[in-house]
Amino acid sequence: MLTRTDLRGRVPSTVELRATLPRAETDVEHVLHQVRPVIEAVRDRGVDGVLEFTERFDGVRPDRIRVPAEALREALAGLDPQVRAALEESIRRARAVHADQRRTDTTTQVAPGGTVTERWVPVARVGLYAPGGLAVYPSSVVMNVVPAQAAGVESLVVCSPPQAECGGLPHPTILAAAELLGVDEVWAVGGAQAVALLAHGATDTDGAELAPVDMVTGPGNVYVTAAKRHLRSLIGIDSEAGPTEIAVLADATADPAHVAADLISQAEHDTLAASVLVTSAPELAEAVDAELERQVAATKHQERIRTALSGRQSGCILVSSIDDGVRVVDAYAAEHLEIQTADAEAVAVRVRNAGAIFVGPYAPVSLGDYCAGSNHVLPTGGCARHSSGLSVQSFLRGIHVISYDERALREVADQVVALADAEDLPAHGQAVTARFPR
Ligand code: NAD
Repeated sequence: MLTRTDLRGRVPSTVELRATLPRAETDVEHVLHQVRPVIEAVRDRGVDGVLEFTERFDGVRPDRIRVPAEALREALAGLDPQVRAALEESIRRARAVHADQRRTDTTTQVAPGGTVTERWVPVARVGLYAPGGLAVYPSSVVMNVVPAQAAGVESLVVCSPPQAECGGLPHPTILAAAELLGVDEVWAVGGAQAVALLAHGATDTDGAELAPVDMVTGPGNVYVTAAKRHLRSLIGIDSEAGPTEIAVLADATADPAHVAADLISQAEHDTLAASVLVTSAPELAEAVDAELERQVAATKHQERIRTALSGRQSGCILVSSIDDGVRVVDAYAAEHLEIQTADAEAVAVRVRNAGAIFVGPYAPVSLGDYCAGSNHVLPTGGCARHSSGLSVQSFLRGIHVISYDERALREVADQVVALADAEDLPAHGQAVTARFPR
């Protein structure tokens, strides 16, 4: 089922590897022209513009888009107790991990009387996107809200697409998750419309105000990602978290049934999802293929999964050794990387590029999707080479606070003047010497 690329016997350069490895052509640039009119309509016509595109893309036109507080309370009251308990456990574990991430302010004494403090200050108002197109993601509400709250963000708003079968409200599990987390501002809007609404703010049909946010985070489809990219100077964004990806680095010790199940689990998200196996064991590749055939036939979303697994973004790469495999997964920079090899811990330490690394046979990606405590909003499309997943840090800004007394400034005055003159900016130097008339 997976297209095979044989890299045994040769170790291609990183440039060659990047060109060879499977990757979706979800070129965000290609849909920018589609999201631009949506963003302009929301900017110019507010909720009227939102409703026009909601009707077109979500097939429903809600009377108003701010979700009333009673709907949040009712959704939680009606939540299946087992799902509620699972969400509570997911929140508990995520809170434990994210509480440990909070950076502390640091003060460095540069000279007697001269200090620089790095102060970490939360972003004031944040919009969190919880997808709800092909699947509904209450887990993404948890993964967005928990780090934002741990960072101390004062004002949070959640947006998620309205569902026609829920009377124009987001899915009740999304609403219940928001209520459990203590978020009371939820708007029923999805896609590029949601990002534009968050960035520009608007007034609802009944007069409720959505104040513009400073930052938008959260995963979404290609339209959500394109809107975030388009609006990124007006608002801050997290890394681009588009269609999901899993890479499994495995040797002959891996269990083919487990590897196949994990590849399928991520293919279930989206026809554009990527499932990539990198292995030094051709017999494992054969066995995984057979398992894929067997298991896909028994899964609920078979068509979506088959399309994802046979797409150009998925495949199997044969390598001569796990060392070569590490080079391949580093060049690929997967959103999720599983290591299923002998001595998986030691292999994991050598990997440099991945959104999150799942080590050994008992850490499947779906554990991280829900209940590991780690964050599941992770960089896709190779962005893991330079970006991290969502964390408490994503919601903090480091502000340098400079405090020098007279003696400390006098001590370094000549150096400031010398550098100002070297840059032909003498007024810079004079701003210092003016304080010390000879
Ligand atoms: P979504 O909420 O991202 O998108 C649905 C919205 O897209 C709809 O509300 C609609 O308004 C808009 N839309 C639909 N068709 C459109 C069109 N033709 N033009 C313009 N807008 C249109 O939900 P989804 O579609 O299910 O996608 C969720 C994505 O998030 C998946 O790709 C999944 O893999 C990904 N995801 C990623 C992570 C991560 O951390 N990387 C985590 C969870 C989910």
